[in-house]
Amino acid sequence: MTIYILSRSKNIYSTARMVEEVEKAGHKVQVIDPLKCDIKLEKQKPTVIYKGERLAKPDAIIPRVGASITFYGTAIVRQFEAMNCFTTVSSQALVRSRDKLQSLQRLSSAGVGMPKTVFTNFGKHTSKILEMVDGPPAVIKVLEGTQGIGVNLAEDFESAETILEAYNNLESRVIIQEFIEEAGGADLRAFVVGDKVVGAMKRQAQKGEFRSNLHRGGTAKKISLSREEEQTAIAAARSLGLGVCGVDLLQSKRGALVLEVNSSPGLEGIEAATQHNIAKEIVTYIEKNLQ
Ligand code: ADP
Repeated sequence: MTIYILSRSKNIYSTARMVEEVEKAGHKVQVIDPLKCDIKLEKQKPTVIYKGERLAKPDAIIPRVGASITFYGTAIVRQFEAMNCFTTVSSQALVRSRDKLQSLQRLSSAGVGMPKTVFTNFGKHTSKILEMVDGPPAVIKVLEGTQGIGVNLAEDFESAETILEAYNNLESRVIIQEFIEEAGGADLRAFVVGDKVVGAMKRQAQKGEFRSNLHRGGTAKKISLSREEEQTAIAAARSLGLGVCGVDLLQSKRGALVLEVNSSPGLEGIEAATQHNIAKEIVTYIEKNLQ
């Protein structure tokens, strides 16, 4: 079969690994930069033009659409869906996963554990908001943030008010979240493919830092998830309609709590930590779905 990987460059680790494993499995592969695609719309006959040439219909696509190109990337994924190609991430699930608030609302409805979270149109009622998330302390997060940027720990009432005021002045939308202190600056990344967790790692923040993102200097090691952690990750993936995703969890006194679900999870950290061929799992998942 023919698989297109939608990615800005074939030199990105995750993209290069997918190319390698698709070829090893005996399939044809092409890396398509979504920003160089045009969409042609008319009555039926959905078409994607790539660098001026009409693209042949592939059997499947693997979208690796970064947060900065969500709108354009999603439009391209939607066009391939209209051409009846299988996709590891549907356009709808992709958009949904990029909206932290909407994702949390869906996870909540699906009965998935999460830190208590408040979204507010910032009135002058900081102490009420903090009370709702059992704080202070509390975590204040910018809704559009990634890689730990815009994630703040407000230790007390005064700092919470200062942070909320600052974001309010910038017209940035934030959520206020219960601080899970017992997580100890660590989180878990469960890599879900289909209906199973194919690899998991624990990321530990640097000393003096509560954010465990690898981009913030966190370190990762392989772990085995408890049954409850595994089931929480799978339930989270399912409730957002994601066949391939990275689920970030905190270990709390009341069990596994989902922080967020990433629809273009990187392969480098997880393959290095687990020494497992995650890229191949994704190829096998596509093969099973196309049988
Ligand atoms: P991003 O999408 O920018 O990575 P996250 O919500 O995943 O933002 O937060 C970044 C990191 O901060 C997490 O990996 C975790 O280590 C820490 N963190 C986030 N929220 C909480 C929380 N409510 N309690 C404790 N630690 C948290």
